[in-house]
Amino acid sequence: MNIPESKLPRIVIIGGGFAGVSMAKTLANKDVQVVLIDKHNYHTFQPLLYQVSTAGLEPDSIAYPLRKIIKTHKTSFFRLAEVEHIDASNNVIETNIGNLAFDYLIIATGTKTNYFGNATIEANSMPMKKVPQALNIRSLILQNFEKAAIAKTKEERSALLNFVIVGGGPTGVELAGAIAELKNHILPRDYRDLNASDMQIHLLEGNARVLPPMSEHASKKAEQFLKKLGVHVHCNTFVKDYDGTSVITNSDLYLQSETLIWAAGVTGDPVSGLQAESLIDRANRYKVNRFNQVDGYSNIFALGDIASMQTEAFPHGHPQVAQPAIQQGKLLGKNLIKLIQNRPMKPFTYKDKGSMATIGRNKAVVDLHRFKFAGFFAWFVWMFVHLMSLVGFRNRVIVFFNWSYNYINFDKAARLIIRPFKREI
Ligand SMILES: Cc1cc2nc3c(=O)[nH]c(=O)nc-3n(C[C@H](O)[C@H](O)[C@H](O)COP(=O)(O)OP(=O)(O)OC[C@H]3O[C@@H](n4cnc5c(N)ncnc54)[C@H](O)[C@@H]3O)c2cc1C
Repeated sequence: MNIPESKLPRIVIIGGGFAGVSMAKTLANKDVQVVLIDKHNYHTFQPLLYQVSTAGLEPDSIAYPLRKIIKTHKTSFFRLAEVEHIDASNNVIETNIGNLAFDYLIIATGTKTNYFGNATIEANSMPMKKVPQALNIRSLILQNFEKAAIAKTKEERSALLNFVIVGGGPTGVELAGAIAELKNHILPRDYRDLNASDMQIHLLEGNARVLPPMSEHASKKAEQFLKKLGVHVHCNTFVKDYDGTSVITNSDLYLQSETLIWAAGVTGDPVSGLQAESLIDRANRYKVNRFNQVDGYSNIFALGDIASMQTEAFPHGHPQVAQPAIQQGKLLGKNLIKLIQNRPMKPFTYKDKGSMATIGRNKAVVDLHRFKFAGFFAWFVWMFVHLMSLVGFRNRVIVFFNWSYNYINFDKAARLIIRPFKREI
């Protein structure tokens, strides 16, 4: 892999997501050699993927080159590679571009979409975990509008203009709100040959309320906002099957739709090679102690979504969101230096800063420890936090400009079918 040999201990980080990047930054220019490996050459800001899917933002404003993140880190290297196996007994990782020995290994591979074993849904639905997948959704939505404009029958047109989103967590709620804004502001202007009232957006949630991880107040407000935007919200409803057109649910709800977006859950994305006992089967997450050390190993660590650190406050591990990943990455960076210097490491404690979701312009919900609020101020807070969390000044400026432009003009400028979506059969 063309990584120079050195006297410095080698720390290999698999994954340039929130956890891996935060750790790599903490280790910048320390007395260690850092090798950051990712199968993409960019970091993805997943919380804004839904805006790429709905033509609100260009993909490059939510992605950031990993090499640029470490460009001033003199002892750090990046390799574009997929790690295929960990040979833990020899301290070697095997990748599609060669093998590499490590002194310390950090697994920060995050999650992948969970279809709960339903192959038909997997084959026919649209996931939204990666930038190319968000672009597929954008193309499909716009292609469906174009096809609907020339549809011969009402049934054909309805199936093209029915959008079904499965999963009423933050991702599903944000996506449903953004598609509703396309219906309310873009469709009537761009597609005068279509009737906007023919377009329907259905949000299906298996629990009794949307945003189940948030407060009841947030759920109630979010549902009100969604309904105001014209989204049909179906709680206690889960999809049993989808063949590309017919949506079969557990209730008497039956929908015909050419577009089913699957935002119903994720599962860990581990790398093969570690002992089976290190992995919690149900969630596909590595069992780690308070220092993020993987159960059974002293020099292998797991961080972020892929790690399950079970504590009294979090018996099932931390929530799979950005903050625990960032905080664990920072602490493990400092802890590894201590470990190398034979100093005691500090155990991890999660500082929960609260949660939030946006439903559309002027509409968001925020849960903080003491305060829960919704509406315009919540939306403003949501925008500020997301803008500040983006990696890179350029991305912040571009996103700020886009949001201001979209707000003033009720526009979503990136409605381009650059690479048409074709379903693989
Ligand atoms: C659509 C969506 C919306 C979200 N919205 C929010 C939100 O609003 N707020 C919030 O806090 N959280 C949100 N999350 C969750 C948040 O993005 C995750 O919790 C966070 O990304 C976890 O960070 P991570 O570093 O553990 O993993 P990731 O950020 O997923 O990074 C994992 C990295 O590992 C790489 N990788 C995986 N396997 C390999 C391999 N074998 N070889 C090489 N590289 C590999 C991947 O390419 C990826 O870059 C959202 C997630 C999604 C999908």
